[in-house]
Order: sequence, then structure tokens, then C-alpha cells
Amino acid sequence: MSSLFRLLPSVDSVLSGLADKKCYSNYPRAFIRDLVNDFLELCRQEIKAGTISGDDELSPERFSSRLEAYLKVHTRPHFRRVINATGVVIHTNLGRSILNRQAAQAVWEACLHYSNLEFSLNTGKRGSRYSHVEELLCRITGAEAGLVVNNNASAVLIILDTLAKGREVVVSRGQLVEIGGSFRIPDVMAKSGAFLKEVGATNRTHLKDYESVINENTGALLKVHTSNYRIIGFHKEVTLKELVQLGDKHGLPVIEDMGSGNFFDFPGHGYHFMPEPTVQQVVKDGVSVVSFSGDKLLGGPQAGIIVGREKIISKIKKNPMNRAIRIDKMTLAALESTLRFYLDSQVAMREVPTLRMITMKQEELKKAAQKLMNRIRRSFGNELKCSIFPANSRVGGGSFPEQDLPTYLVGVKSDRMNCEQLKEKLLRTDPPLIGMIVHDLFCLDPRTLDVDEFGLVVEVLGQALEV
Ligand SMILES: *Cc1c(COP(=O)(O)O)cnc(C)c1O
Repeated sequence: MSSLFRLLPSVDSVLSGLADKKCYSNYPRAFIRDLVNDFLELCRQEIKAGTISGDDELSPERFSSRLEAYLKVHTRPHFRRVINATGVVIHTNLGRSILNRQAAQAVWEACLHYSNLEFSLNTGKRGSRYSHVEELLCRITGAEAGLVVNNNASAVLIILDTLAKGREVVVSRGQLVEIGGSFRIPDVMAKSGAFLKEVGATNRTHLKDYESVINENTGALLKVHTSNYRIIGFHKEVTLKELVQLGDKHGLPVIEDMGSGNFFDFPGHGYHFMPEPTVQQVVKDGVSVVSFSGDKLLGGPQAGIIVGREKIISKIKKNPMNRAIRIDKMTLAALESTLRFYLDSQVAMREVPTLRMITMKQEELKKAAQKLMNRIRRSFGNELKCSIFPANSRVGGGSFPEQDLPTYLVGVKSDRMNCEQLKEKLLRTDPPLIGMIVHDLFCLDPRTLDVDEFGLVVEVLGQALEV
């Protein structure tokens, strides 16, 4: 063991060996020195543990190739692209929706150049950042006014803070949901300073339940879209229309947290998904104010979109909290670009990646799966056994929770490692590939892969199979 320790080079000799490598020249010497020290320490640990046990493992070639791999991992960006082969279209852990190229181009422009973010090109004076998307939002949804903030959680917060601080907000017990990442309606309400007034039972709430608790301290009626779960069986919810009538009778605003916030009429385009209202319908049913996410079904960037009655929206715009949750210019650029596609729903279906992936036909998916399988077979021969079989993808993001989207999976199997090991190895490729295990096979769903990514998939499979 001690002879192995002696084989390890000194920090200084390693550093001088790296001196002419351009790729590290942007990093301070002290930073690279720390990394080399950490790497040497790792080697010592491995010698102690017996994972490094022979001279050959510390030969200059082996040592420098291991060092190079270590340095590469520790100097590359931490936040990186991955390949999503899970078939979950709105994958919250993988960044929810991806953008159309034109939308990405708009972000690029906003980053690299100055812009009219808060500058009116009509008057040459100060303008408002909300002006860029308000008209589009009104046109698409039919609402009188709108604004956008950082995300839907902050949208709900500012709506409650503006309309019901210190007052009671009536919500059905069946709608006190928790969505992923510990966003719970009762907690958000507590933060806003509004008081939760729960009514009804988990499975059934009637209009009279709402009406019976209305008093002089009631601030609003709230409806929450229970996006990620579904009650089946003995179940009753009050419709938005009924709530609006009740609100009108008592002079109370009706707020809806729609969660995903969909503009696209799926059934109208031949996709008979679970019935979900569109934002247009909610506005038409008379909601006072509704909020939803930009990066769920809408397929845009992270944002909280608020639309509704002019009087209410202008109050929200004046709330000082707005400054703390405002949308940034890059997001605004991506959002405007995405919203423009929705002026024509056929264009949206073609151009918004999230919509395109959700509405892909099974035939198209089968062809894509075959193409991917053939490429894998051509590259790996017998080294990877490859097959395709029918399965279901998910929309994700709490949208259409029970909706099966028929797809075809490409399953691969290696003789040299089991599927868990392959899955694990693919987390360390460049870029990493995220797939899933079904029937003891490592599986890829072509729904969330671009055909242009197939070459990259083959490449990273190759990386994973290297020793
Ligand atoms: C997703 C969701 C939210 C939170 O939206 P973010 O944009 O992630 O902040 C709030 N309410 C409901 C019902 C949701 O589904």
C-alpha cells in the first residue's frame, strides 16, 4: 500500500503538467490547485479502501486520464442540458416545458441587446413592462386585463394579498390541495394574510355551504383547480358559474387558481382527453380573476399569468408586492413569443413543443421508435438488445393526471450490465440521459425526444457502455 502512495505525483508536478492546457486557463490557479488536491485525496482514499490496488492503475497514462475526467466534471456547468427520454412532457424536475426556437431566439435578443422593457417607443418616456403581453393575453383569453409575475404561486399570493388581506376567503375542503414542491393552498393563504374559511366535505361541497359562511368579513370566494388528483365516486363540486352568481349576489370577487391554465381546446381538435376547462371558458363563465402557470400546458417559460376584470387587475398592478415577484425580461421575451402562436390554435399545436408532444399521433410515435431502434441496432449490434413495445406516456406537471397517452417505447438491454446499472451510467454521460425501467429493460419514449436528438442518444449509449 505504501508503495502505491509513493506513486502519486506531487501537486506541483501535476499543476505544471496542466500549465499548457487551454481549457483551464480561465480558472484561477488556486481553484485548479484545490481540485488537484481533492483528486489526490480521493486517490489516497481509494488506495486505503483497496479500490486502487495495483501499480498499473496509477501509471502516468491512467492517472492523467482519470485526473482529466475529474477536472472536466468539476469545471463544467452544474446546471446542464439533459435528454428527456421519460415521455413525461411537462417534467417538473427536468425543467417543465421546453421552448420553441423562435421563443428562444427572443430570449437571446433580450439578453444580448438593450430593449424597450420599460420604455415607451411612442412617447420616448418611461413605459411599463406589463404592456408587452397584456393585449395578447386579452385577445387570447377574452379577459379585460392581465399581468404576469414570476410564477403561479406568486400570482395566487398577490391576488389574495390584494383582494382579501385580513379577510376570509371561502374554499371548498375538496380543493385544499398540495402540489409538488410543498405548495399548499392553506399555507399560501396564511402568508397572504387572508383567512381560510373551509366549507363542505372532502368529496362534496354544495352552493349552500358557501352561502352559509358569507359574512361582513368575507373577502372573496376561491376555486382551486385540483390538478394533480381526481375524486371519483360520490362527488360534488360547485361550478364556477354558480360561484360567480353567488359572488355577484353578495358583491364578492371570485378567484380561480387554475394551475396549468390551458388555452388549447383539446376535444375541439379531436383529442378526447379528460374534460378540463380552458382559460377562455373560465373567463366567459365570469370569473373575477384567474391565475395559471406559463410553463405547464401553455408550453412557455416559468411565469404566473393573471387575467380578469380591469378593476381588479389594476389594483393588483399597484400592489407593492409586485416588485418582489416581477417577471424578468428574458422570461417576458419567451412568453410574448409563445403567446403569439396561440393567436391561431393550429399554429400553436405545431409550434409549441409541449402541445406538439402531447398531440403526437401513435403512428408517428411508432415510426419514431422504429427509427431510433434501427439506429441503436446499427451502432451496437449484439452489444445492446433492442425492441419496441406499446405503452403509455404522461402529460405531467399535474395536468391530465389520469390521461394515458398511447406511445411506443424502445427498450434496450446490455449483456454486460443490468438495467439499473445502465440507468445509473446514463446519469454520468455527456449529456446525461434520463429514461425509465419497464419490464427489466431500460426504456426510451420517443414522445419527448426530438428526431435530431437520436444521434446524441446513440452517442451517450456508447459512452455508457465504455468501461
Ligand atoms: C402548478 C400549480 C401551482 C403553482 O404554479 P407554479 O407556476 O409552479 O408556481 C399553483 N396551483 C395549482 C393548482 C397548480 O397546479
